[in-house]
Amino acid sequence: MLTFEHDYKTLPAPLWAACQPTPVDTPALIAFNRALAGTLGATDIPDDATLAQWFSGNTLPPGADPVALGYAGHQFGNFVPQLGDGRALLLGEVMDAHGQRRDIQLKGSGRTPFSRGGDGRSPLGPVLREYLVSEFMAAIGVPTTRALAAVASGEQIRRQLPEPGAVFTRVASSHVRVGTFQFAAAGGNEETLKALADYVIQRHYPEAAQAEDPYLALLDAVVARQAALIARWMSLGFIHGVMNTDNTSVAGETIDYGPCAFMEQFDPRKVFSSIDQGGRYAFENQPATAQWNLARFAETLLPLMNAEGDELIAQATDAIRRFSDVFAIEQCRLHADKLGLAAQSEQAHDLMQGLEIQMHQGGMDMTATFDALTQYAASPTNERYAALLALTAHPEELATWLKAWHVVAVAGRENERLDAMRRANPIIIPRNHRVQEAITAAYDGDFAPFNTLLEVVTHPYDDSTQARRLAAPATSSEQVLRTFCGT
Ligand code: AMP
Ligand code: MG
Repeated sequence: MLTFEHDYKTLPAPLWAACQPTPVDTPALIAFNRALAGTLGATDIPDDATLAQWFSGNTLPPGADPVALGYAGHQFGNFVPQLGDGRALLLGEVMDAHGQRRDIQLKGSGRTPFSRGGDGRSPLGPVLREYLVSEFMAAIGVPTTRALAAVASGEQIRRQLPEPGAVFTRVASSHVRVGTFQFAAAGGNEETLKALADYVIQRHYPEAAQAEDPYLALLDAVVARQAALIARWMSLGFIHGVMNTDNTSVAGETIDYGPCAFMEQFDPRKVFSSIDQGGRYAFENQPATAQWNLARFAETLLPLMNAEGDELIAQATDAIRRFSDVFAIEQCRLHADKLGLAAQSEQAHDLMQGLEIQMHQGGMDMTATFDALTQYAASPTNERYAALLALTAHPEELATWLKAWHVVAVAGRENERLDAMRRANPIIIPRNHRVQEAITAAYDGDFAPFNTLLEVVTHPYDDSTQARRLAAPATSSEQVLRTFCGT
């Protein structure tokens, strides 16, 4: 069905280990992403029973040759020299419709040489969460890994309580993480490190190969992609939850959706993950965290770079500092889009800061606020004005902000800017309580809420009664305050 290649296996062996999946009891297909499969060149898609066999790892799709990848990582600031795919297997790569090499990976397919104490399995809940959220991200154009398949294993796995197991099939530009470079660097073999860096340049940043110092160019390019990515997250209220260096893709995609969640009421200090007790990965800390992770990446590249001594350190430091510049430019562009301002508007920053204060102090739901503002920009009726004011506990202050905004907003007059505003402000995000509702129903064997939510969040600009119902913020009794990574 897919034409597998095995380019990663040309890298030195410590970076991967051959490993077979462990079969599951009674695999049953939950979801298969036919549209994505099409872009991966899939032909002759078999029946659901065969897909369930293949994407649980019970029998492998023709041409697959699974390997577990080695990586290290800073987890909540502590360096762990060996993590690796403890419950995931790379089946191989396929070339997509754009000629880009994409990894196909099973997650939850059993123990590997990197499993340490773990069972190599994944509970159903995190599989459904990753499916929903990653496909939403793809639908709004945020760089992300994709969901190809979800298969129920028919087995119970042991967590705090027994839970149904599942296997997730993920598609990524690659699974090379900052932690992969840390793993190669910690191994102490410079040839392995150089092979990895050259591989990443060739696969993701071919233009860097032409630079005077390809490894400095690689650092620059990865910094730029991460900065653009985090700016997108911030513009949507996305909180990743586990921004460890092993969960930071050098290709600049959102990866590892564990305890992620979207913020509802705007709060810069917001944290959902049960394991992030110090708030290290709180919403407002995400840009600085990404920059910190990139500094760890830079450290691994130092031995490969041309310069030496103080000059080397100065170059790497400058590259890391450029994160802030790229981030600021991206953020300014996104703010102008979200607020319906002229493209390069100098007011974007101040107006957004003002609105963030309103959202925070007035307890406003972030997605609902930007949706209502977009509606109002498109057609400034009294009704829509009232709908905006109804979102805040301090309507008079919001009215003052709206006056200032009204003077500079152009989306009401310029169709192209209104389109940009609409694209920046989806009607729906995968709200925590809706994701949880879909998971709870699935645990009772009912996948209808999952399928409905998936349909709606993958069309995040389509207005319908169904979309409006699922887009509504949680009431205080519906709110889900904590998320779990399910490892
Ligand atoms: P994560 O929290 O999913 O990013 O995983 C962090 C590390 O723990 C990675 O090396 C995973 O492969 C490993 N891991 C997580 N869950 C399991 C599991 N159930 N069995 C084996 N390894 C696991
Ligand atoms: Mg991870």
